[in-house]
Amino acid sequence: MHDVVIAGAGPVGLFVANELALSGRSVLVLERDQDPHPPSKALPLGLRGLNAGSAETFHRRGLLEAVLKESGADPHKVGAAPEAVEPPAPRELSHFAGMTLDAAGVDTAALCFRLPSPAMEGFMTSLEAVTSVLAEQAATLGVEIIRDAAVTAVSQDDEATVTTAGGRRYRSRWLVGCDGGRSAVRRLAGFDFVGTGPLCTGYVAQVTFADPAQLPFGFNLTDNGMYLRTPLEGHLGMLDFDGGAFDRSRPVTREHLQTVLHRVFGTDVTLDEVHLASSFTDRAMQVGTYRQGRVLLAGDAAHIHSPLGGQGLNLGIGDAMNLGWKLAATLHGTAPDGLLDTYTSERHPVGAAVLDWSRAQVATMNPGPNAPALRKLVHDLMRTTEGTTHVYRRTSGLFHHYDLGDGHPLLGRSAPDFRFEDGTHLGDLLHTGQGVALDFTDDSALHGATRRWEGRIRYASGRVRNSLGLTALLIRPDGAVVWAAPHAPDPAAFAQAAGQWFGTPSS
Ligand SMILES: Cc1cc2nc3c(=O)[nH]c(=O)nc-3n(C[C@H](O)[C@H](O)[C@H](O)COP(=O)(O)OP(=O)(O)OC[C@H]3O[C@@H](n4cnc5c(N)ncnc54)[C@H](O)[C@@H]3O)c2cc1C
Repeated sequence: MHDVVIAGAGPVGLFVANELALSGRSVLVLERDQDPHPPSKALPLGLRGLNAGSAETFHRRGLLEAVLKESGADPHKVGAAPEAVEPPAPRELSHFAGMTLDAAGVDTAALCFRLPSPAMEGFMTSLEAVTSVLAEQAATLGVEIIRDAAVTAVSQDDEATVTTAGGRRYRSRWLVGCDGGRSAVRRLAGFDFVGTGPLCTGYVAQVTFADPAQLPFGFNLTDNGMYLRTPLEGHLGMLDFDGGAFDRSRPVTREHLQTVLHRVFGTDVTLDEVHLASSFTDRAMQVGTYRQGRVLLAGDAAHIHSPLGGQGLNLGIGDAMNLGWKLAATLHGTAPDGLLDTYTSERHPVGAAVLDWSRAQVATMNPGPNAPALRKLVHDLMRTTEGTTHVYRRTSGLFHHYDLGDGHPLLGRSAPDFRFEDGTHLGDLLHTGQGVALDFTDDSALHGATRRWEGRIRYASGRVRNSLGLTALLIRPDGAVVWAAPHAPDPAAFAQAAGQWFGTPSS
């Protein structure tokens, strides 16, 4: 019997598996597909944008360099220069409803608690690149992956049991469904899945155009929808406001794509060939709780929405980082009461906000007589400093806030990447998946207090380049700040926060 069975070897399933294996848990991943490298995960269809928050997450597990390399992304564009004292201004901004933002418009003074880090910006990657790096790490950590093993039945009592298509049964103490938007685990375990229906069908395809020069690059909003052309050879995306009428069990044929392109673009551009195509909708749905007994959900299994603004993968990686250490501590028997339930209470609101963000984009793009007026209003607002800064805060993935009660403004936020004088960043200290106590004062009493959570909390002391006015912090394995001391650190206050998140101290 394994500690945890995970359904789905997509990016989220692999990330959760690695988090658990990092803390010594036995993990089995069951994956439906035989081929780990299907063409749909490679460029161009597998093109994905990771935001700065995901870059930071990979940095915190020592994987950023590998993901950047596999993605062909430039580390200098993603991180601050090693000797930078001030954080660079944001360089890359996303879009809202196809309207791009100007990074120079962000009010950097409003972005408090940012520090120079190797992970300041998002970057473009592919599903293939991300899953390859995670699968390699999984192999190193001893995660077992069985392919061609679709989960078809789930039951639970004092353990979880899954059956795969071949009739084999696997028992585990916990089951995590990371099996994507049409999750079998979600359905079989009886999770409620609610939200809003579709207004449109979207398409991504790799095609050969008879006359590519006719289709401009970038996001193009039209009277009937939107199309996107990226610099990747033959890469075409479209949104067709058909009320979600396209039957997605049907293959996307050349004739169908041609009709949709004509409707969306308004002029004939001939598609000579369609090499690969898939469809999606803007249905925005989420489970009411991320846990039912011994079954948990993460990633697209827990929430689906349109890919507009590229947030699904980022959201799923955030789920995985939040869940992994909590489930590991539960299995170790060190988790304080209710720790696992904070997975839902923290991640559900973050997911709900992303769903609303995607709904707002679809509403703004939805054609009709009033559409130009709404788009102009949104466009004008986005041109203001407050508007640009707001969109940056919402899409960069760096500024979400878990409600951990009153206190220092950093409580419940992602910790700034403090840099010690020897060049070590906080992100480096988080590689082992333990919590981190940062002590900028070399306080022996605080050091003594941290020893009581040996193996759960790492202690690091010394002078940092910029302490942001703090003397000490306690940071969870996922990088969230749970205690921040602006004055001389109080070991009793530290012990209270440590007990709340890391459980009873060893005697
Ligand atoms: C066109 C498009 C563009 C996108 N662009 C972006 C972007 O730029 N940025 C971003 O953040 N997000 C983007 N997304 C969303 C992103 O791809 C998903 O949110 C992300 O892949 C979800 O990861 P996951 O691991 O939860 O699910 P998946 O990637 O769907 O992986 C699920 C895995 O489970 C397996 N599986 C399914 N059923 C079973 C079963 N019964 N048993 C066992 N295994 C099973 C599947 O084979 C698969 O390997 C985009 C999505 C689309 C469609």
